Amino acid sequence: MLTKGKQLLQTHFGYNQFRKGQEEIIQKVLTGKDTLAIMPTGGGKSICYQIPAMMLPGVTIVISPLISLMKDQVDALEKAGIPSTYINSGVSNDEIQQRLADVYNGEYKLVYIAPERLEVASFRKIMDSIHISCLAIDEAHCISQWGHDFRPSYLLIKRLINDIQPKPVVLALTATATPQVQQDICELLHIEDENVVMTGFERENLHFQVVKGQDRDRFLMDYLEKNQGQSGIIYAATRKEVDRLYQLLDKRGVLVGRYHAGLSEKKRNEEQERFLYDDVTVMVATNAFGMGINKSNVRFVVHYHIPRNMESYYQEAGRAGRDGEESDCILLFAPQDTHIQSFLIEQSDMDEQRRENEYGKLRKMVAYGHTESCLQQYILHYFGEEDPPECGKCGNCTDEREQIDVTRDAQMVLSCIRRMKERFGKTMVAQVLTGSASQKVKNFGFQNLSTYGIMKEKSQKEVNEFIDFLTAEGYLKPTDGTYPILMLTERAGDILKGKEPVLRKEKVQISRIVEDDELF
Ligand code: ADP
Repeated sequence: MLTKGKQLLQTHFGYNQFRKGQEEIIQKVLTGKDTLAIMPTGGGKSICYQIPAMMLPGVTIVISPLISLMKDQVDALEKAGIPSTYINSGVSNDEIQQRLADVYNGEYKLVYIAPERLEVASFRKIMDSIHISCLAIDEAHCISQWGHDFRPSYLLIKRLINDIQPKPVVLALTATATPQVQQDICELLHIEDENVVMTGFERENLHFQVVKGQDRDRFLMDYLEKNQGQSGIIYAATRKEVDRLYQLLDKRGVLVGRYHAGLSEKKRNEEQERFLYDDVTVMVATNAFGMGINKSNVRFVVHYHIPRNMESYYQEAGRAGRDGEESDCILLFAPQDTHIQSFLIEQSDMDEQRRENEYGKLRKMVAYGHTESCLQQYILHYFGEEDPPECGKCGNCTDEREQIDVTRDAQMVLSCIRRMKERFGKTMVAQVLTGSASQKVKNFGFQNLSTYGIMKEKSQKEVNEFIDFLTAEGYLKPTDGTYPILMLTERAGDILKGKEPVLRKEKVQISRIVEDDELF
């Protein structure tokens, strides 16, 4: 069967070899196994359903939220000699009727639709009367409430699968799914664990970097100066900031476009086209930009503000380097920006459980800004890869500042948290460590702890920041929720027992000599 698949790969796409995961996924689909495929952006997910579509009888329906990409996909397929079409809100009614008639007459092997189409009665009627052999669900994380881009219309897919007779084989595909989201997709679509194919999330050509403590505008100007003529995206959190940065760059002679939801649709399309065709090299945008963008030569993605979670970050940053060339993904990190995202979560109308989940995700995003370990490792770990190696090329791996032993400071913090019975959050812990005279500290009798005031020559801000570092490095695990409580991890136990040192890249470290028995 796969020999045929390989032939099709050569004749229709001009490639000699399957990429990692493709063969296994295609094999599963062809043998009727419902499958979840997790591959990085640019990994070659489309071929995993396009090749089976040619080999299976009947039609493959591809469900995708990315309306703007459908036309490109279909054009490419037509060029490759694979009959296909798309039906979405951008197509006139008459044309839709014509396309549906052609689908009914068996003229296409692939039909792309947006999930909302499943609600349209005339479309459902056609679906009932044709042979659908495969249902490919692109961006499958959109079906999960725990994903970063939940779309209620994706839940319609569940009903569709039950309704179609005979049942089509289901192939769900995504590039960004945490273990929790993967599990959710499998449960909702009844995919067995053994049919999850994950090739890994790593994008070898991306260089991650976190920039902190610098004037962001100046950094940006310097960076653009050094990378003149290169195509890149700068993401900012608000429309106002997008407008400000746009003006700033425009004034300095950068060929710049801008994109946010406050501009008319016409203007947005114009700006997008200008970027796609390299009339402007830099695009300043909110996260409204990029979902439907398949520009391969983006050399850098700079986040001027922190996004709301790691999934969004990796998806947005991952728009760099789709052509496989070396590219930069830079986060300009200022801890105070977290408030913008907290505010957005607070204002949104999600239920309490989801809100808490969102806060938890935001905290992991913030920890990315604080970590001094390999950034790529942090990302891969977040997406559930076990023991990912260090990349050796991100900003942290190549940071040559000297490492300072901060084991004593770490022990003070961890020991204090343990003495407070792991029942309090960052602010309270920092107050106890710095010897605050606050009434709350007194109410709990914490002034009697041996760790009270043990770090009093540091400010609460410094201690807070040090706790963020310990959290980012995995010594502390805050609980989910609006007021997270700091808990010790297994690694913290090793630090307290003196089995492992804690090292930090820092210039100055103020530490008081403390007797061992004050700590243990
Ligand atoms: P994804 O949807 O996973 O982001 P695509 O399906 O768009 O990725 O594929 C990314 C690029 O890789 C496309 O240009 C595609 O033609 C190419 N590609 C896919 N499979 C192969 C292969 N086996 N060999 C070479 N190139 C491939």
